[in-house]
Amino acid sequence: MRHNLIDPYTPGRGYYECRTCTHRVVSEDRLTTCPACGAGVRNLAVPRE
Ligand SMILES: [Zn+2]
Repeated sequence: MRHNLIDPYTPGRGYYECRTCTHRVVSEDRLTTCPACGAGVRNLAVPRE
């Protein structure tokens, strides 16, 4: 196995993308609105179902 020092898709860290302006945010806190435009964001790091 390779050592992944920085894995952008590590669960537990929130990656969010704005539904409107596609602005991306990394936040350890739960985020529901885009800091750039205030629209709703979606979580990119949700587990696969
Ligand atoms: Zn936005």
